[in-house]
Amino acid sequence: MKAGFLTDIRKIEIREINKPEIQSDNEVLLKIKSVGVCGSDIHYYKDGKIGTQRVNFPFRICHEFSAVVEETGKKVKKIKIGDQVAVDPATFCRTCDQCKEGRFNTCRTLLFMGSPGLKDGCLCEYTVVPETSCYPSKKLSFDQLCLVEPMSIAVYAVKYPLTLKKKNIGILGAGPIGLCTLIAALDKDAGKIYVTDKIDSRCETAFKHGAYWTANPLNTDIVKEIEKKEPLLLDYVFECCGDQDAIDQAMMLLKPGGKLIIVGIHESERISISTDLMRRREITIYNVRRQNESTYDALKLIESGKFKVDFMVTHHFNIEESQKAFDTVANYKDNVIKAIINV
Ligand SMILES: [Zn+2]
Ligand SMILES: [Zn+2]
Repeated sequence: MKAGFLTDIRKIEIREINKPEIQSDNEVLLKIKSVGVCGSDIHYYKDGKIGTQRVNFPFRICHEFSAVVEETGKKVKKIKIGDQVAVDPATFCRTCDQCKEGRFNTCRTLLFMGSPGLKDGCLCEYTVVPETSCYPSKKLSFDQLCLVEPMSIAVYAVKYPLTLKKKNIGILGAGPIGLCTLIAALDKDAGKIYVTDKIDSRCETAFKHGAYWTANPLNTDIVKEIEKKEPLLLDYVFECCGDQDAIDQAMMLLKPGGKLIIVGIHESERISISTDLMRRREITIYNVRRQNESTYDALKLIESGKFKVDFMVTHHFNIEESQKAFDTVANYKDNVIKAIINV
């Protein structure tokens, strides 16, 4: 089968490798259909690392995908051959201290697809996963199923604040995760949602899909403008861009008792926080590590049809064009939001 390898910084090669086989009775063999290019993949593509997680080339990249079940292990019960599925790229042990606490996303022996040294990525034609990683849907297209993973991060992120109902919030960054967070927050009946991004077209997209106000921090003093509209400031800010400026803006935008939820992945290993603002306003900071038990909810949210999601998929490529797909996303070309590689 064909499989995509990151062979150097900014270099993807498609190679021929053996098709994987089911190894244990609870596994299923999947024919991959749509693969999403994620911001985290772009960190590996551009820098060869995220923090201390370094890539050893050649590296099998990607973790967002949808698939059709081609074969099932002997003990597989719920998943059937022919099922169209969204897939949780994480496999966890269910027995360690973290899993026992219900913190499956920080499992001591977590395996995550397309993560250095953990599990091969999904930019390929076939993969084998445990039955429990599969979430079937009869309603969704393969591209929509592929959006379930990024949506699960947003669904998880909005679980942090106890309630979003009528709360005025900020979302800093309107890439796929910021836009998914916008949808997840609308679903939780948030009040006014202020969205910012350094790309104008992303601001327009966020406004069109439910943001109350949007602006580009490169040409607008967003803190001043939001302060004018909300003198009491915001209840929660979701930082979805991995940018130090956004962290600073978030601290200034939060009201006393406000919550900062860090969803974005920062390029630098350290960020700085105004301890003065944090202390005076008693701001709580939450970190989102991928997602925990939110895949099903994300699938149901997309299935509900309450909110459009297709607009996020702006580009399609075939597997041979993977290099082009990554270049497009890494360079923010052509107003790209989510690029999908059809396998
Ligand atoms: Zn992702
Ligand atoms: Zn565990």
